[in-house]
Amino acid sequence: MKFSAGIDFGGTFTKFALVDLEGNIVDRDKTPSLTRSSAQDVLLHVRGVLESMCMRSHLPYPPPEGCGIGMPGVVDYEAGTVKMSGAFGWTDLPLRSIASQILGCPVAVDTDVNAGMLADLYFGNASNASEMLYVSWGTGLGAGLTIARQVYHSRFGAMGNLGHTRAVADSPRLCFCGIRGCLEVEIGARALVEKAQAEMAAGRPSIMAVQRNLTPELIAQAATSQDALALEILRRAVTLLAHTLAASLAMLNPDTVIFAGGVSNCLPIVRDVFDRELASSAPTFALSNTSIQASAFGQSAGVVGAAKLATLRRPA
Ligand SMILES: [Zn+2]
Repeated sequence: MKFSAGIDFGGTFTKFALVDLEGNIVDRDKTPSLTRSSAQDVLLHVRGVLESMCMRSHLPYPPPEGCGIGMPGVVDYEAGTVKMSGAFGWTDLPLRSIASQILGCPVAVDTDVNAGMLADLYFGNASNASEMLYVSWGTGLGAGLTIARQVYHSRFGAMGNLGHTRAVADSPRLCFCGIRGCLEVEIGARALVEKAQAEMAAGRPSIMAVQRNLTPELIAQAATSQDALALEILRRAVTLLAHTLAASLAMLNPDTVIFAGGVSNCLPIVRDVFDRELASSAPTFALSNTSIQASAFGQSAGVVGAAKLATLRRPA
C-alpha cells in the first residue's frame, strides 16, 4: 500500500497519522509536544512513534511516500527551514534535512496552517476551489491562500498572519507582535477565556461560573444554552473577525473560504451575526460567488494535510 506520514507539531500536542493516497487515515496517534527540546531529540521521538504505528498497522517503515511536517511559526518552504517557531524555541533551523536524516526518508516541511489547508484542497470542501482563503482559528488566527490551486508561500514565508492585523483601534491589549488590539489578542482562544473570566469576576452572572478550566468549547456550549455573556463574547468575536476578513475578501476575491481550528466550531452558533457583519463590511461583488464553510476534517486537517504535503513535488 502506498502511504505517507503526516506530523502536525502543535504547541501542546503533536499529532501523527499514516495516510493513504486518497486521504484516508490508516492509523493515528497523539503525544505531548517536546517544545523545549533540540530538533534531534524531537525527531528521534517522532521516529519512535511512527515506527510503532507502522508496526501495529503491519506497514513498512519508513513510509514509502515520505513524511510531511506542519510546523507552527515561520517556515521557508523552498529551503525546508524553520525561520522562527516560538512554540518550539527554534530559529533558522534546517528541519527538512535533519528530519530526513533521522526519519530515513524524504521529508517536506510547511507551516501547520498551509499543511492543514492541503487536506481540504485535495480531499475536502475545497477540492473544486481555485482561489481559497483558509482561516485557522485557535490560540491564534492563521491564514493560508491558494492561487490557481497552488499554495502561496510569500518570499519571506511570513504571510498569512491574519491574527496580527489590528482589530480594535483603542485596545489596551498588547500582543507579542507589537500591535495593540490585533485580532489574536482580541479573539484568540486565550482572549475569549480571559474576557469571560474578567466579566464574571466583575459580577456578570453566567452559567460558565461553575467551570474551573474555562475553554472556548465551554463558552460555545454556554452560548448554545443561551447564556447572555457567552453569546455576547462570541458575537463580538465574529464581528471583529468578519470586519478583518472583509478586507481580505475585497482584496483577494477568493472563490472559497474554509474555517478550521478549534475556536471556529463556535461560528455556526453566531453565524447570523457573522454573515450580517461580513455583508455590511465587504463589497457585494466580492462576496456574491464566495463559498464560506467549515473544514471537512476538524481536528485531523493538520495531519491529513501534512501527509499530503509529503507527496507533492518537493523543492530541490
Ligand atoms: Zn499580534
